[in-house]
Amino acid sequence: MSNSLFKISGGYIYDPTNGIDGQVKDLWIENGKVVHPPADPFAQPARTLNASGLVVMPGGIDMHCHIAGPKVNTARKMRPEEKRKADPVSRTAITHSGTMGSVPSTFATGYKYAGLGYTTAFDAAVPPLTARHAHEEFQDTPCIDKGFYVLMGNNHYVMKSIKDQDPQRLQAFVGWLLGAAKGYAAKLVNPGGVEVWKHHAAGNVNGLDEPVDYFDVTPRQIVGSMSRSIDALGLPHPVHIHCNQLGMPGNWRTTLATMEALEGRGHITHIQFHSYGGGDEDEETFCSRVQPLADYVNSHNNLTVDVGQVMFGETTSMTGDGPLGYYLHNVYGGKWFSADTEMESGCGIAPIKYRNKSLVHAWQWAIGLEWYLLVNDPWRVVMSTDHPNGGSFLAYPQIIRLLMDRTYRQDILKTVHPAVRAGSVLADLQREYTLNEIAIITRAGPAKILGLQNKGHLGPGADADITIYTPHENKETMFELPRYVIKSGRVIVEEGEIRENLIGKTLHVGPDYDRDIEDDISQWFEDYYSIRFRNYPVSDDYLHDHEQVACIVSDEAGIPELTDGPAS
Ligand SMILES: [Zn+2]
Repeated sequence: MSNSLFKISGGYIYDPTNGIDGQVKDLWIENGKVVHPPADPFAQPARTLNASGLVVMPGGIDMHCHIAGPKVNTARKMRPEEKRKADPVSRTAITHSGTMGSVPSTFATGYKYAGLGYTTAFDAAVPPLTARHAHEEFQDTPCIDKGFYVLMGNNHYVMKSIKDQDPQRLQAFVGWLLGAAKGYAAKLVNPGGVEVWKHHAAGNVNGLDEPVDYFDVTPRQIVGSMSRSIDALGLPHPVHIHCNQLGMPGNWRTTLATMEALEGRGHITHIQFHSYGGGDEDEETFCSRVQPLADYVNSHNNLTVDVGQVMFGETTSMTGDGPLGYYLHNVYGGKWFSADTEMESGCGIAPIKYRNKSLVHAWQWAIGLEWYLLVNDPWRVVMSTDHPNGGSFLAYPQIIRLLMDRTYRQDILKTVHPAVRAGSVLADLQREYTLNEIAIITRAGPAKILGLQNKGHLGPGADADITIYTPHENKETMFELPRYVIKSGRVIVEEGEIRENLIGKTLHVGPDYDRDIEDDISQWFEDYYSIRFRNYPVSDDYLHDHEQVACIVSDEAGIPELTDGPAS
């Protein structure tokens, strides 16, 4: 048997899942996995990488971004002016060329994530009808493992099952749909609101208890029923919610009501966009309401959040929230794209530029940072920019610096709109994240929230996805250019240069569901869809390299609680 042992020797290991906080240790890798050190103390690895003096972490995991599918591709086509300005990724003997800007091409997306030390990313909003497109783009997105969340919050069959008070049928449909799309998790985007937008000019729902036309269900019912169904299916990730009224002044009450409406576990995404005080009539009243929401999260451990940090500069907003796209277009003018996907979802795209002297934008920036600093348990708050909505994933190193260096944070705060300088609690927040806490909010935490047992840690059995950094006083410098990035046990990046090309695998689920439902779904497709039931599911052989992550059905009644993270 040939020796394929690979040893990473002498690095400072940050592995919060296993309670390792900067201790010097060796890591042993074989066949793409972290393994126990060999029993024979004289065993020689085939290869050793000397990591002494360097910081070793699991590969980063982006649990909420937009990198594949028709919405992303339309946004790429909409922004040629950006692509002409931004430096492209050059072709090498190993890599393809690619374009940059706020919506990089598929190849550039994979290379840039890997270059930053991220080895897994999830697209957060794919209509199941377009699942094939997303899978095809994943095959062109190299270096990282990836998966997507399936849009369900405005799906007609979902709303009909809730209206008919048939939770068994709802659960079976959610299980069938995830398996058919080869998706990873269920996503609700403005539950019910997108459907109202399809029927009425400028339509939307204005709160959790406003019924959706024709279906006569409320967002509260959709949130409650879906969280219960998803937990009953034993999906690795709980319901993933983009709340109603994104971006609207005063929307924090709706966000709080959504948290209260959960009947099981829930993940609230890009919560920064949902934490606003103030009223419509006067922009000057716009303000932060992070504190009461963070208090609720701190005291309810069925809840997790990712932030959706806004960073100043130009980007492209893209959302399954059709009415939101329309709203942004009205505010900012310029380009706008809107589309509906049959019985399933909607979409809105509009370019946007966040300015530090704008009252609203400065608040958005501050509110994101308040979230990181006011949630007590780093295992329940995840770093995200909702790429590219709040900013590019390429801003992560700068966000890390903002969290680890309060002097830098205060310096930036001094440059923003004066009302935010005076009104935000940021000026008083002294908290600085440690390296261990950064490892939690960028890899260990998202892995745990996603139910990825082989990722986000460096214990035996973990995927050997590992990022090695050169320590630096300036944390942005440290995190923007890892020394080495290892994917599945192979060194794929050295100081930003791609050394080896691999495609990575697609992560998906295949829940058990009551097969009796298929006759009913089949008839539904015959009656209403533009595609036959039998042609709809994506088969295993359509996918490239892929892994089905297990669903674990628990017999326990009641609200399942996240276990606490290990003490650090
Ligand atoms: Zn998003």
